[in-house]
Amino acid sequence: MTEKAIDVLNKNKNGFFLMVEGSKIDWAAHANDTIGIISDVLAFDEAFKVALDFAKKDGNTIVIAVTDHGNSGISIGSYDLIGYDSAPFSILSPLKGATKTAEGAMSLLKEDKSNISEVLKAYGINPDGYTPADITSKDRDTYNNAKVNDLITQFKNDPTSSNLIKIMNQKAYIGYTTGGHTGEDVPVYIYAPKKVDKTPLIGVNENTDVAKFIANAMNLDLEKATQKLFVDVTNRTGAKLDGNVLTLNENGKTLVIKANQSIAKLNDKDISLNGEIAVLIDGKFYVPQSALDLLKSTSK
Ligand SMILES: [Zn+2]
Repeated sequence: MTEKAIDVLNKNKNGFFLMVEGSKIDWAAHANDTIGIISDVLAFDEAFKVALDFAKKDGNTIVIAVTDHGNSGISIGSYDLIGYDSAPFSILSPLKGATKTAEGAMSLLKEDKSNISEVLKAYGINPDGYTPADITSKDRDTYNNAKVNDLITQFKNDPTSSNLIKIMNQKAYIGYTTGGHTGEDVPVYIYAPKKVDKTPLIGVNENTDVAKFIANAMNLDLEKATQKLFVDVTNRTGAKLDGNVLTLNENGKTLVIKANQSIAKLNDKDISLNGEIAVLIDGKFYVPQSALDLLKSTSK
């Protein structure tokens, strides 16, 4: 998809801006689905390589990889990893056994739930469980196998996505602090031609600095664009806000605009705002200048 998008956009001789979102990394992290996180990060990495290869060949393109926030507090080595300082990397090998994410594995589940084993296998779990073990054991693997066994039984009784996810996290000692977003600093990766000064994004920065860096590189005036695209009409004479619908009466014309839409009604007839939208934030209603121009006495 990234390759196709670049192919299409690169035909514009004025250049282009493309945002590629690996959005399911976030979904998987919310669910604490380790397999989902890994596979979607790898998919994003492939997309990034496509963009990077293009930029290197093109010589006039900047590529930035950044996330808008952390999520889930994932850690290698969970609370149950007894002797974490001597644990071998092989504790992670169960992760390699999965062929599907939790969402993918659960989609295999038949309505009569007759194929629970197939679902477990797709998620890299041996459906037969493990040799029943002593849950009071101080031996790392014995203790963990006992817990994994219990979780497999739990899943067989109640085959839900969250019960499936718990098994793998127990098995591979993956810990999580939350099912929500997290507040840690996040990295920014930039590839840019030599002539571009990358220093504004080096070190610790505000997230909005990324937008400013991009605007600067593309010669965009964000202040001007804001004035053109978001005119505050909340207290304008003839304006009436009802819920998320704004009505403007001017020069004998009536314009009705709904928030978050790029279609309005001018004297009861649908009219396109050409992709520009009205926005309602904290009780204030903003419309593009182009919408106000429709109300001028000279325009049809
Ligand atoms: Zn999220």
